[in-house]
Amino acid sequence: MTKVPELFGSMVFNDKVMQERLPKTTYKALKKTIENGEPLDEGVANVVANAMKDWAVELGCTHFTHWFQPMTGVTAEKHDSFIQPKGDGVIMEFSGKELIKGEPDASSFPSGGIRATFEARGYTTWDPTSPAFVKDGSLYIPTAFCSYTGEVLDKKTPLLRSMERLSAEAVRILNLLGKKDVTRVATTVGPEQEYFLVDKEMYDLREDLKLTGRTLFGAMAPKGQELEDHYFGSIKTRVAAYMRDLDEELWKLGILAKTKHNEVAPSQHELAPVFTTSNIATDHNELTMEVMKKTAEKHGLVCLLHEKPFAGVNGSGKHNNWSISTNTGENLLSPGKHPETNYQFQLFLAAIVKAVHEYQDLLRITVASAGNDHRLGANEAPPAIISMYLGDDLGALVDSIISGKEYVSHGKEKMETGVEVLADFKKDNSDRNRTSPFAFTGNKFEFRALGSSLNIACPNYMLNTMVAEELSQFYDELKDAEDLTEAVKALVKKTLTEHQNIIFNGDNYADDWVDEAERRGLLNLKSLPEALSHFLDEKNVNLFVKHKIVSKEELHARYEIDLETYSKQLNIEALTMIDIARKNITPAVSAFVRELIDAALAKKALSASISSAVEENLAAELSEKLEKFVALTDELQDAVIEAASVEENLEKAFAYRNSVFAKMEELRKVGDSMEEKTSAEYWPLPSYTDLLFGV
Ligand code: ADP
Ligand code: MG
Repeated sequence: MTKVPELFGSMVFNDKVMQERLPKTTYKALKKTIENGEPLDEGVANVVANAMKDWAVELGCTHFTHWFQPMTGVTAEKHDSFIQPKGDGVIMEFSGKELIKGEPDASSFPSGGIRATFEARGYTTWDPTSPAFVKDGSLYIPTAFCSYTGEVLDKKTPLLRSMERLSAEAVRILNLLGKKDVTRVATTVGPEQEYFLVDKEMYDLREDLKLTGRTLFGAMAPKGQELEDHYFGSIKTRVAAYMRDLDEELWKLGILAKTKHNEVAPSQHELAPVFTTSNIATDHNELTMEVMKKTAEKHGLVCLLHEKPFAGVNGSGKHNNWSISTNTGENLLSPGKHPETNYQFQLFLAAIVKAVHEYQDLLRITVASAGNDHRLGANEAPPAIISMYLGDDLGALVDSIISGKEYVSHGKEKMETGVEVLADFKKDNSDRNRTSPFAFTGNKFEFRALGSSLNIACPNYMLNTMVAEELSQFYDELKDAEDLTEAVKALVKKTLTEHQNIIFNGDNYADDWVDEAERRGLLNLKSLPEALSHFLDEKNVNLFVKHKIVSKEELHARYEIDLETYSKQLNIEALTMIDIARKNITPAVSAFVRELIDAALAKKALSASISSAVEENLAAELSEKLEKFVALTDELQDAVIEAASVEENLEKAFAYRNSVFAKMEELRKVGDSMEEKTSAEYWPLPSYTDLLFGV
């Protein structure tokens, strides 16, 4: 292996490459675009494009692609070669125009009805704030995607817009508070990514995993995660080799892969990068998920990114660590040594508390998906109720602000290990609360309710926009204040008092919390259809329209797409279940019953003194279960037909949730109980033991 510093970013058209390869004036112009968002002229683009092409060709590229993030949930790419006919042959060319604008056919991407399929034209536009890179022989150019008529059709554009909005509002406030040198503020994100690895041969034998990403049947293995021996456990050789390979691939792409470890469930792992600005973090997380899957193939493994591949053990999530920092290098969510007099910090904290309280529905909506609905509220992920955890220290500060009583900091206590050879160290000033959906962790917030496969652009544009809105309201309240400090203090106190109901430092898994949250008037939106019912609430539409993140029509389109995707996913799951039930499980159980009966008959024929009770009883039990199983399969089919016939998307999603999904659970229960009683030789699918302990 080459040395990591040399390997790192070797496939990225990064600042170092730009400095080496671009004329000074071009470099400066491009930097201005990247750092200050200034528009780029075509002359500059031409020079950049040519340099990019030369660099990429040296790395073996023949093609370039505009890489974008449509509403499908995966990234999209269409490759064009650099060739240009010249004389008898070709030359390799790449123009500024090609760099800046691409024209993929937009008709086959989800648009939520804002455009008809015959209006096929769509544009991709270069996002110079995320560096281009080389992968699989192509030059990848990160882009935003919109329709011919200008409607936003992707996840990236709203994120970029929200970052601009938050920056503008934060700068205004900071300037007002006297920080005149701050000209730009960026949100930063470090997403921790969970995943499962299963053996490819086992995977190939499971139609459900192949078609839906999760097991639709499967009796629990005798061992699960109860011994807590997997979390942070020593990493198996095969998995370690995979992780090593993965790190290398990610490093080449300039992705700051930092931490890796085993997670709670058997076969579950996590990777966390060092944080970076939100848009780059988004691109990097999309790439990370893709590289995870591809690298697994090389190792005879399959990487599962579904939120709930296995019932009975933890599913996979993603922790969105989020903060805001200035161009002068200040982390605005760092409380400093004296948070009690750090009014700037208090003001930003108050803005976030207010935002999370007022837009708790949006935060819930943004993490809603068919997959993630299995986790939220299942005592393994934060509940569907959105609340915030501030920790002891900050919690005490907020209490003191609200009550007007003096604040006593616990400060950083010294931790005595009690062993001479071990150094004593300072404890963090807040313990962790793993059950909270939105937790303060020292100098950032950790939004923990995300599903593992989610594109983080969505939660982040919501977060950025709602905080921008609160800051804008704060600015209006403060701008004419005579005594600014007193005004800030009063505003912080008023805001925290009004919104303290969103703060909860207790155990989010406790049953009491559900009742307590209800008393506090917090929402408990258990499934995607329930959550989505709030998406188009007036306050939400106003928020996005006011900040020009998406228009009312675009928001509506997103709502339709989310609902459609949900119904389609449940439809596929139900059909897959029916397929497996009819073609695999029913014949297998029937054959096993037949063998039992044959054995019983043979015993009887041989001698009346040999008992055939075991075979007979088991045959009877399985026959009874099988009859129920077949009936439930038919009922599931009826439920699917009925749900599919519903026209309106929200109503349809509810039909899938309330009748199809409910029936699937019933069917699975009977199926799994048959698996427990059926010979492994006959059972047609690899077991949970094979899948969870097979690597
Ligand atoms: P844990 O699992 O204990 O929560 P990790 O170290 O695995 O912590 O992950 C913490 C994540 O938070 C990392 O990705 C880290 O880079 C990120 N992070 C740290 N500081 C910031 C910040 N200011 N803004 C955004 N993310 C941050
Ligand atoms: Mg974490």
